Amino acid sequence: MAQAFECAECGNPRRFMGSCQHCSSEELPNVFVDAIELNIKQGLPTVEEALELLTDYLRRAHQLGIKAIVLIHGYGSSGEGGRIKWAIHDALENNHYADRIEEYFFGEQVPYGSKACQDLLKQRPGLKQYLRHFKVGNAGMTILLLGSGYRSA
Ligand SMILES: [Zn+2]
Repeated sequence: MAQAFECAECGNPRRFMGSCQHCSSEELPNVFVDAIELNIKQGLPTVEEALELLTDYLRRAHQLGIKAIVLIHGYGSSGEGGRIKWAIHDALENNHYADRIEEYFFGEQVPYGSKACQDLLKQRPGLKQYLRHFKVGNAGMTILLLGSGYRSA
C-alpha cells in the first residue's frame, strides 16, 4: 500500500499516532489518504482501554482530515475481541462518539459488491482498497464515517 503519512519535517514515513519515529517531530504529518484501517486489538487492550483508544483515534483522525476508518476489532462470542466489538457497538448505538462519527456500518452489513457497500463507496471511495478483501462481509470490523463538519468546539 502507498505511504499514508509522511513527516512534514524529515520526510520519512510516519505512523498514524504519535510523534515521528525518525526525528521526534510533533508536527502533524503530511497525509496522502482519506481512509485508513486501524487494528484496535493491537497491544491486546482491555475493553476500557479499547474505548479510550478509539477516542484518541477519532481525535487524531479529525486533526489529519481522515474521512473514514476501517476499525478492526475482532469478533467471537468469547475472548476480548468479542467483548471489544460489543462494547464499541454499544457505544456507537448510544451515540457515544456522535460528535465525531457521522455514520457507521458493521462489517457484516456491507459485504463487498452489495448495494450497501456500493452506496458506502460512493460516499467514501477511499475505502475501496480495504473493503474489496471482504467479499462476504467481515464481522470483525466496523466502518466509521467521520463527519465533514466538526460540530462541537
Ligand atoms: Zn520526522
